[in-house]
Amino acid sequence: MRDLAWRDVKYLTGVGPARAALLEKEMQIRTLEDLLYFFPYKYVDRSRLFRISDMDGTMPYIQIKGHIISFEEVGGGAGKRLVAHFTDDTGIVDLVWFQGAKFILDRYRPGVEYIMFGKPGVYGGRISVAHPDLDSPDKIDVSAMGLQPQYNTTDRMKRAGLNSRAIQKLMQNLMSLLTEPLPETLPQWLVSQERLMSLDEALRRIHFPGTNDDMRRARYRLKFEELFYVQLNIVRYTIDRQKRFRGFVFDKVGDCFNTFYKEHLPFSLTEAQKRVVREIRADVRSGHQMNRLLQGDVGSGKTMVALMGMLIAIDNGYQACIMAPTEILAEQHYANIVNYLDGMGVRTELLTGNVKGKRRQAVLEGLQSGDVRILVSTHAVLEDNVNFRNPGFVVIDEQHRFGVAQRARLWAKSLQPPHILVMTATPIPRTLAMTLYGDLDVSVIDELPPGRKPVRTEHFYDTRHSDLYAFIDMQLKAGHQAYIVYPLIVENEKMDLKNLEEGYATVCERFPQYRVSKVHGKMRPADKDAEMMRFKRGETQIMVATTVIEVGVDVPNASVMVIENAERFGLSQLHQLRGRVGRGADQSYCILVTGFKLSEDTRRRMGIMVETCDGFEIAEADLKLRGPGDLEGTQQSGVAFDLKLASLARDGELIGKARETARLVVEKDPSLSLPENIIMARRLAALKKTSYDWSSIS
Ligand code: ADP
Ligand code: MG
Repeated sequence: MRDLAWRDVKYLTGVGPARAALLEKEMQIRTLEDLLYFFPYKYVDRSRLFRISDMDGTMPYIQIKGHIISFEEVGGGAGKRLVAHFTDDTGIVDLVWFQGAKFILDRYRPGVEYIMFGKPGVYGGRISVAHPDLDSPDKIDVSAMGLQPQYNTTDRMKRAGLNSRAIQKLMQNLMSLLTEPLPETLPQWLVSQERLMSLDEALRRIHFPGTNDDMRRARYRLKFEELFYVQLNIVRYTIDRQKRFRGFVFDKVGDCFNTFYKEHLPFSLTEAQKRVVREIRADVRSGHQMNRLLQGDVGSGKTMVALMGMLIAIDNGYQACIMAPTEILAEQHYANIVNYLDGMGVRTELLTGNVKGKRRQAVLEGLQSGDVRILVSTHAVLEDNVNFRNPGFVVIDEQHRFGVAQRARLWAKSLQPPHILVMTATPIPRTLAMTLYGDLDVSVIDELPPGRKPVRTEHFYDTRHSDLYAFIDMQLKAGHQAYIVYPLIVENEKMDLKNLEEGYATVCERFPQYRVSKVHGKMRPADKDAEMMRFKRGETQIMVATTVIEVGVDVPNASVMVIENAERFGLSQLHQLRGRVGRGADQSYCILVTGFKLSEDTRRRMGIMVETCDGFEIAEADLKLRGPGDLEGTQQSGVAFDLKLASLARDGELIGKARETARLVVEKDPSLSLPENIIMARRLAALKKTSYDWSSIS
């Protein structure tokens, strides 16, 4: 059978209209092809029989041969359930059903031998198995069952009898229709070169693997293909863009840059900063449009590098712009840049939501006339009425809040796209960067300015607040300042605010001799800023705040960062917060405070924080713990098509391989029109319906 993509799953034996509707609603399965690509999420080895005496409550799926002694209906209301006492003569285990008691009672009889299959758990101190499968031993040949695929199903599906077993049956029915081999979706040369299973075999084996080895090879083939087409899309886009867009050529390094470098630079650049400045200079003079991602840990001095890039643009007669994710950060950049450039006559302006009326008008006019040379802004710069005369260099700070689409909108502001520098303090692991920002060149600042000491990090349980306060007291006596941060998670704003207020009251009471600032997201921006400035000037010694201080604020005298309810923060957020201290020459401390009962994940997060201050290590660990789906931008970016099998977190090596293969293909055959590559052009076009069509943005 061919044309699986055109055949409604409804007509498959065992489906019918009701189940078809469910499959579509719950799993977006409409056609036979969708079903074929609905892969098991794991496999269970059913070649082994266990004994009840060997069971414990932590085992994965197991099977046992035995019989039911008796049934019993227990509990009432929502807790009502049917229990079968099941024995194999080495012990007794309870089988439990919360639904469908009547069906079970009709179908199974005490005293008859069954093979029971399910996942043991502990309930009320006893080992039990909820909703097991029971089969007659004559019906299944344990030794031949091998790996059994397990399919994701929802409660609704299960209620309609569409459990994993039922899906497996549907797959069997589907396979019996596939009398001809399925057409290959990768060119033959690539299949041979990478020693891949054919698509036909892979799709059959992934549902019905005989052995572990089959299963692994089938998954490898399908993963490779997924990643390969993602990378092919990105590589083609990048090359296409380079061809279509010439970049402004900044061939002068002139007065601005030189004066600044010789007379205004308040410190000498680190080697890493110098290297990145050189990379940027090479880019902007190359004739290609620069698209560079600058990764550097918190405090590594990215802003200075960005500023030097902007000065090159100004030396060549262009305007420059830096965009920050929040108003506070934009204001801080503005203050710093004005300060750095003092006396150089470079008109620098701030444009945020706070800049209104006449002031705003003046900025907008200056931008249009070209009089404003550097604009510091937020998303506000994307508004339609903001027009530059000749933007040549755009810096996007803290990129993870800025998607590919927004970057593209910036281009719409000029006929020829400006050079773009995207900066992030949350280093993105290489494999993810390759996929998410695969069209960007990457620079790394892997060195902190001299004299910085790694922040010492400790994990405290919240029963130790008196020790904690004693420690803060010591630091304050030495003339330092401290942050105490509370979570602010939108869903539970009220409770968070209460935590913050209570914390503030406690701190005020405990430290009567010091002044305490309080900052949270509900305050008016002007008040918030005023309070931050008081802390920065040293007028207050303790800052009690929510995560509004997460990015950017620079107070070198602060030496303590206390994070309350640290269990509620993700790793990269914790790292970001920790980066607020350790900016001065003295030893700084970060204290993570949590409750005593912690999940395994949280414990690991705390462990990683205590162990390392390296942002890259933390980012890798974060990706592994959370999976990339949770990283901001991954889902909306639309880059990754719809990855079914491959994982951006775990398949790093394979991503690299797919990338390299794609690059070689495009280098040789950019339009994919060679006969041996046509199959790829077709496949890409078919995938495009779900992909991001970048080519239409610019
Ligand atoms: P981030 O990379 O986190 O944006 P910043 O650019 O805010 O870091 O820099 C952090 C601090 O380090 C700032 O106070 C900045 O002035 C300072 N700084 C940057 N580069 C150097 C350097 N080469 N030597 C000393 N201090 C530096
Ligand atoms: Mg910064």
